[in-house]
Amino acid sequence: MSEERSEEHAVPPPGPAPDSTPGTDGRVVLEAEGVSKHFPVRRGARALLGGERRAVHAVDDVSLRLCRGSVTALVGESGSGKSTVARLLAQLYPATAGEIRLDGRPVRAGRGRAFRAYCRHVQLIFQDPFASLNPVHTVRYHLTRALRIHGRAGSGAAELEKALAALLERVQLTPASRYLDAFPHELSGGQRQRVAIARAMAADPRVLLADEPVSMLDVSIRLGVLNLLRDLKERLDLAILYITHDIASARYFADETLVMYAGRMVEGGDSETVTQRPAHPYTRLLLASAPDPDRVTGDGGDGGEGADPSASEPPSLISPPAGCRFHPRCPLAMERCRERTPPRFELDGGQWAACWLYDTSEDASAAGDAPAAGTGRGAAS
Ligand code: ATP
Ligand code: SF4
Repeated sequence: MSEERSEEHAVPPPGPAPDSTPGTDGRVVLEAEGVSKHFPVRRGARALLGGERRAVHAVDDVSLRLCRGSVTALVGESGSGKSTVARLLAQLYPATAGEIRLDGRPVRAGRGRAFRAYCRHVQLIFQDPFASLNPVHTVRYHLTRALRIHGRAGSGAAELEKALAALLERVQLTPASRYLDAFPHELSGGQRQRVAIARAMAADPRVLLADEPVSMLDVSIRLGVLNLLRDLKERLDLAILYITHDIASARYFADETLVMYAGRMVEGGDSETVTQRPAHPYTRLLLASAPDPDRVTGDGGDGGEGADPSASEPPSLISPPAGCRFHPRCPLAMERCRERTPPRFELDGGQWAACWLYDTSEDASAAGDAPAAGTGRGAAS
């Protein structure tokens, strides 16, 4: 993770998280609550938009919790805001609104020593291992630098050599001597990503933010890298955020799955439930565009209501649709979907969906637009 930052920040002192979340057993390490990120539109683009001061609403009101020993997948189409969430959690961007907490205590964007202290707990792995490793430096250089930055290089050459070998062993690149003096271009894509993971592990972090960690790798080696991350999670009790546009891999790899659409979180729950019994119409469309032979949709496998996911595009995030952002594409949109943003509605077994279809309140009946039989939760199961 880059060490160059531009703002001051504070890292909470170590200590147990004052977590009272039901079902998480106090295992929450990193959490976001009501976090938004708006990027001001550049002057050139502003001129095209009539000179108005506007912003890209990349992330709006996002809340999530990452727990020790657990993988949380963040799934969504390109441009839905997944990477921005990872960068906010990594403190690479300051949030426009909301709060990020480490061990229950708020943190804010910073630089220098304070940022390095934060990086000891939270590390980011990027999609492209070739771009994230400097081509003129060897594996030894990259790992030694990371160990030194985080004060884990030992006190002499022998201790450093031991720490380097342990790191490579941790990512299953053995014997270490075969890889230590190699340059990035001498390694395969999978080996390069393993080196990038080893570099992140040099900090001995508690949280790994993995931004599309396998999407640039050959299909044949993706599974190996995901299995490695799972092994690290289990052995080191890591909290992992796994960002992907491939919802099928989330089912295989993640304990919990969160779905994002146009900057907002729309559904969450355990991965098996979200991928087998998706509640939100967008999740159904996402699944329909990623056929999974094991999936039991009960609706013929078309993602629900016969909608064609390729029929329309995600909205502009400069002026996102009012109400539910998915309403221009949603085959089940009701009148109030165009006006009011749906809150999270709790479903069975910890699953939730931000969709008016699940509003069982009296307001819904009064509005006269409660879901017709067969269009709501039942249609997905
Ligand atoms: P992908 O899978 O393609 O990486 P994503 O879901 O990770 O997409 P983001 O990269 O977070 O999405 O982008 C969300 C939105 O924010 C996009 O519209 C993007 O153009 C915009 N965006 C991201 N970073 C910036 C930035 N630094 N300045 C302006 N707009 C940005
Ligand atoms: Fe569709 Fe309305 Fe639900 Fe949005 S809130 S997903 S528009 S039914």
